[in-house]
Amino acid sequence: MKKVILTGDRPTGRLHVGHYVGSLKERVRLQNTGEYDEIFIMIADAQALTDNADNPEKVRQNILQVALDYLACGLDPNKVHIFIQSMVPQLTELSFYYQNLVTVSRLQRNPTVKSEIQMRNFEASIPVGFFCYPISQAADITAFKATTVPAGEDQKPMIEQCCEIVHKFNSVYGETLVEPQIVLPQNAACLRLPGIDGKAKMSKSLGNCIYLSEEPEEIEKKVKSMFTDPNHLRVQDPGKVEGNPVFIYLDAFCRPEHFAEFWPEYQNLDEVKAHYQRGGLGDMKVKKFLNSVMQAELEPIRTRRKEWEQRLPEVVEILKEGSAYAEKTAAATLDEVRKAMRIDYFENGNLLK
Ligand code: ATP
Ligand code: MG
Repeated sequence: MKKVILTGDRPTGRLHVGHYVGSLKERVRLQNTGEYDEIFIMIADAQALTDNADNPEKVRQNILQVALDYLACGLDPNKVHIFIQSMVPQLTELSFYYQNLVTVSRLQRNPTVKSEIQMRNFEASIPVGFFCYPISQAADITAFKATTVPAGEDQKPMIEQCCEIVHKFNSVYGETLVEPQIVLPQNAACLRLPGIDGKAKMSKSLGNCIYLSEEPEEIEKKVKSMFTDPNHLRVQDPGKVEGNPVFIYLDAFCRPEHFAEFWPEYQNLDEVKAHYQRGGLGDMKVKKFLNSVMQAELEPIRTRRKEWEQRLPEVVEILKEGSAYAEKTAAATLDEVRKAMRIDYFENGNLLK
């Protein structure tokens, strides 16, 4: 069987460091292994509209921003197909058929949908499209017969739901669709990076992000303003490392060589943590180190992004080519789906048979 990747992001804002450690970094790694026959990266504008219906301009504006973030992180248009969801109309038709294979109560039980409804204050009135987005995500994944979906932990229930749809479809209509597997980041701190406000998830919609395109001064300001252990008031107090955003970020970003370069007093992160826990290490010193680490990590991304910003017509061309290729692939799958469902009435006089 072919090895295929499908993954993507909603163009609701520029991408942030949570996207980077949670999914983008892994995509670039997988792209460079050469083990995959095809890689599709989708800019999910139609999905973004499910909770931004009255703000289409925001979604439109962010398509190029997300594409720039991709290219800045090292996704290579010669190795991956970057495309725009709404330019592949076959996805909506697939969703339409899949909707019949899922119950309302099953969607209501999806924990990610549940928490996102709460986060957006949709409890009183949920847009139908938003409620159904796990189904449209299943269409996105199966249209490309994706075997692998690199994503953050919040996507786990989506992949589970997708597998259920595949299973149901194949058992009713015959073996047609492929069950995908999620690939989560190996580092636990990257599964769900908290926001700089200490909230459970860094998210464009919550405004608690450090963006990949952020200027150095802004990164520093944000790192210095980060939440830490609220009980660590004086330097000599013992501090807590678990659940402390500054240490979660260090777990996610810091590499052994950063110590020799930026903080030679310590050999590794364990030594820093031990000192913080025993007391005597101030938050500002830890934040200063984190700032150096983040600056080192983000500098090459920002530079590459600026280069691509000078070549926007080329970026549009990449999206156009990627979308045309994605459409061709999705059309082939849709053809198989229709055949399996016997919606092929006018072929070979089938309706008369
Ligand atoms: P929105 O607020 O509009 O939903 P978002 O910031 O949640 O935006 P998405 O486009 O929904 O971003 O997510 C894209 C991908 O990035 C998904 O694979 C998701 O799991 C991953 N991701 C998003 N935020 C984080 C985070 N804080 N930590 C780890 N992974 C993340
Ligand atoms: Mg999201």
